[in-house]
Amino acid sequence: MELVEERPYRFRIERHGDMRVPGLVFASRQLLKDAEKSLEQVVHVATLPGIVGASYAMPDIHWGYGFPIGGVAATDVDEGGVVSPGGVGFDISCGVRLLAADCDRAELRPALLAVMDGLDRAIPRGAGPGGVWRLDGPRQLERILQGGSRYAVEQGHGEERDLIRCEDGGAVADADVTRVGPRARERGLGQVGSLGSANHFLEVQQVARVYDERAAAAFGLAEGQVCVMIHCGSRGLGHQICTDHVREMGRAMARYGITVPDRQLACTPVDSPEGRAYLGAMAAAANYGRANRQLLTDAARRVFERAAGVRLSLVYDVSHNLAKIETHPVDGTRRRLCVHRKGATRAFPPGHPDLPRDLRGVGQPVLIPGTMGTASYVLAGVPGGGAFASTCHGAGRTMSRHEAVRTITDRQLRARLERDGIAARPLSWRGLPEEAPEAYKDVDAVVAVAEEAGLCGRVARLVPLGVVKG
Ligand code: 5GP
Ligand code: MN
Ligand code: MN
Repeated sequence: MELVEERPYRFRIERHGDMRVPGLVFASRQLLKDAEKSLEQVVHVATLPGIVGASYAMPDIHWGYGFPIGGVAATDVDEGGVVSPGGVGFDISCGVRLLAADCDRAELRPALLAVMDGLDRAIPRGAGPGGVWRLDGPRQLERILQGGSRYAVEQGHGEERDLIRCEDGGAVADADVTRVGPRARERGLGQVGSLGSANHFLEVQQVARVYDERAAAAFGLAEGQVCVMIHCGSRGLGHQICTDHVREMGRAMARYGITVPDRQLACTPVDSPEGRAYLGAMAAAANYGRANRQLLTDAARRVFERAAGVRLSLVYDVSHNLAKIETHPVDGTRRRLCVHRKGATRAFPPGHPDLPRDLRGVGQPVLIPGTMGTASYVLAGVPGGGAFASTCHGAGRTMSRHEAVRTITDRQLRARLERDGIAARPLSWRGLPEEAPEAYKDVDAVVAVAEEAGLCGRVARLVPLGVVKG
């Protein structure tokens, strides 16, 4: 693959073969080592009907099903542009929320282990069913699919401010529950308010460094302050919706004269029955994901209040696996685009009308988990960003899960976390090395490159004090 470094930290893959647009990769040479397979996926995505601008890759890019993780692709809705479930991913609306505690590390210290034990008991997790909420039936599931975290707050599980600080005010309006199949509903019923497993976590962190005082103050963050980061998605429900609609679109594609280089790129026009059906179901899963994070927030708040007398307030909640209809300028005109972000975070610049009023002066908070043993970051959208106002979403894997468990033992990982004073509360230690710091890229390098490339600005660096994992 020929990469031209057209300016620092921005590489171009010239159009060739069936590519409709070039590839643009925001990265350093160091981060691009071993990225060959995912760069091929960037090229595949560039062939999608209606794609505009470029097929973008973020500095945390790695291989995913069909689309790379860390990929952004926007299609022109009014020019036959397509929507592809693979461009969103299986964990629809997987995302991150950050809560700021009203205490600093020194104040929490005497209660930290009690808090971690409380979280260990209160946070449902693991691969199977079980959640904070036991639904009274399928009707209530529909209310969640329609109302998202707004519904959870209405039911007494949060405060109004939680909705103001959540992307889309806590719920997207265009959920179509009739497009959520029976199997997806069945899987969704028993998992409302649960973390899941693997990369998902609830972490107690400390602000170790502030880079941008003004933005940090607007976000409610200061050096030494305790935070809680929650990373989870839409569980089995989102996964099943993705599976169902990939299959459906795979069958329908020929009717629209669409061929794709990889079956996992199955797509149909946004403005087609199949496209609308997927977007309606996807929106329902997005609401489920937000309700999920809201209920886990509620559970964490109770623990902090009881064990430490500490209050948690929401900094922001943003999804990093989602397709959204947004308006952006393309070649000088404003176009209605379907922006797919898969393992990429929306990063609206200062002044954007969709930002909560009190954040408009500083830009959208962008929440970047690193690993359980290294740092995580808070960034902000910047004027003139790139990739349709998007940036990275994490450190990004360097090792497959399989490779990680083969090379890192749970004893090594345990020793490392103990040495660094990180209180881990995994459901089991056995699978934990899949998510060991060594399995990921250097998050400090990833966010530095994202900033250098002009995608976002650093606001604060967070370090873990304790982690709850599935
Ligand atoms: P993904 O959404 O792609 O599954 O994961 C997003 C990012 O979460 C990963 O790229 C990785 O950097 C980060 N991550 C995975 N596990 C943990 C964890 O236990 N703690 C923190 N802070 N980050 C994690
Ligand atoms: Mn996920
Ligand atoms: Mn995720």
